[in-house]
Amino acid sequence: MLNLYNTLSRKKEEFTPIKKGLFKSKKVGLYTCGPTVYNYAHIGNLRSYVFEDILKRVLEYNKYKVKHVENITDVGHLTDDADAGEDKMEKGAKREGKTAWEIAEFYTQAFKDNLHDLNIIEPNIWCKATDHIPEQIKLVQKLIDKGFTYETSDGIYFDTTKIDDYGKLANLKNQELQAGERVEMGEKKNPHDFTLWKWSSPVRHPERPEGVEGSPASPKRQMEWQAFGHMGFPGWHIECSAMSMKYLGEQFDIHCGGIDHIPVHHTNEIAQSEAVTNKKPWVKYWLHNEFLNMGTEKMAKSTGNFITLQTLKTRGISPLAYRYFLLQTHYRKQLNFSWEALEAAQTGLNRLYKEVQKLSPPARGGAHDEVGEGVGAKFLKKINDDLDTPGALALVWEALKQGTINYDTLLKFDKILGLRLADVKEEVVESRIPEEVGKLRDLRAIARSQKNWAESDRLRDEIKKLGWEVKDTEDGQEINSL
Ligand code: AMP
Ligand code: ZN
Repeated sequence: MLNLYNTLSRKKEEFTPIKKGLFKSKKVGLYTCGPTVYNYAHIGNLRSYVFEDILKRVLEYNKYKVKHVENITDVGHLTDDADAGEDKMEKGAKREGKTAWEIAEFYTQAFKDNLHDLNIIEPNIWCKATDHIPEQIKLVQKLIDKGFTYETSDGIYFDTTKIDDYGKLANLKNQELQAGERVEMGEKKNPHDFTLWKWSSPVRHPERPEGVEGSPASPKRQMEWQAFGHMGFPGWHIECSAMSMKYLGEQFDIHCGGIDHIPVHHTNEIAQSEAVTNKKPWVKYWLHNEFLNMGTEKMAKSTGNFITLQTLKTRGISPLAYRYFLLQTHYRKQLNFSWEALEAAQTGLNRLYKEVQKLSPPARGGAHDEVGEGVGAKFLKKINDDLDTPGALALVWEALKQGTINYDTLLKFDKILGLRLADVKEEVVESRIPEEVGKLRDLRAIARSQKNWAESDRLRDEIKKLGWEVKDTEDGQEINSL
């Protein structure tokens, strides 16, 4: 029995898919909100994708056939997450002197590289917002026809007072705002109303003819389409409703994201989707991961308070050690970033790899085979209890200590953990120092053998810049992370 915490009911529920059918189909529809591709993902963002990967692997371990859809937001996400600010893509394009399309392509690839490094299984369907403009226009048109919208000088808005259960996911009542939240009302009728479609630049009817380029105050956008009588672009939320319904149907099983998506993005997705289908419950289970914090605040691009996977790599922390670090904490608990904790995770993972080496052939088969009743059943119980990865890891360590787990069982568990235990080789365990640092160390050894002390000091500084410290000992150079 698989139990998952559903944000909608605020409790753990037994998971049963919507589609039962005659042959008790085990098909699951899963939609995960993907990245806004205007910059590199930070490791806080990547916490979401590792959690969703664990969820998908657990479903598959329970023999469900998962159809996983993930979007790429490449238009319409404004800098304040609501309806004000600049389009993040346009901002990225200005920052780098490129087109928004080039920015999207580059950072989509960078994101996919991150997923690969973290051993995250890619979705069955990737969908880009800009590839689904007609679907989004159609959905907005349906909402207009059903009377859920109104128009202002900057776009088409969803009137949230037209539905009686607006805000049910976040428990928002009567247009109350969340603590600390401020809303730019502009011409909005109600604080929670949100844009479905935005004009490229504010229009004052009727003096601005159709399709006219933006005014000097708002330079011409790179991503805009003719619709509803003006040039414009979709609001951020409509893409997820349009694309999930296209690929998974009007009702599907699971939808995920980070907790920051609960009060605005997911709340608005539910409002517009259920308005369009005459209140058919849209998604059965909503799952959200907690934040990765840095200091006292959540890691965020907007505050510049963030770290990327590449930074971890240059400090000698492997992406899989980051994955291991995440698995040690339940996805619904806040997690604090620190270099010490990551180094401890790297050490822990290296220790695990050593254990795998000890178990792997020819020693394999030595321990008891308890899959299915002993350790296997206990492991399943843990992961089926709302993805208890810390409990599952503790169990693995306990079984290793007691010798009650064999190589095959460990590899079976790794179908969920995703730590690439089958690929463990001697070098993987030993190669903690990044390649770049290793090269500088070798050059420094040459410089020292030539008594070129100035060059040796320069190389020491270079190594330091990468986060490593060199000590000269009787046995040669000793390198430690700072
Ligand atoms: P974005 O690209 O901004 O849409 O964010 C991608 C995902 O990362 C979303 O599911 C966010 O909820 C999530 N997220 C953003 N910041 C953090 C954080 N500090 N810790 C965990 N998840 C986060
Ligand atoms: Zn979304």
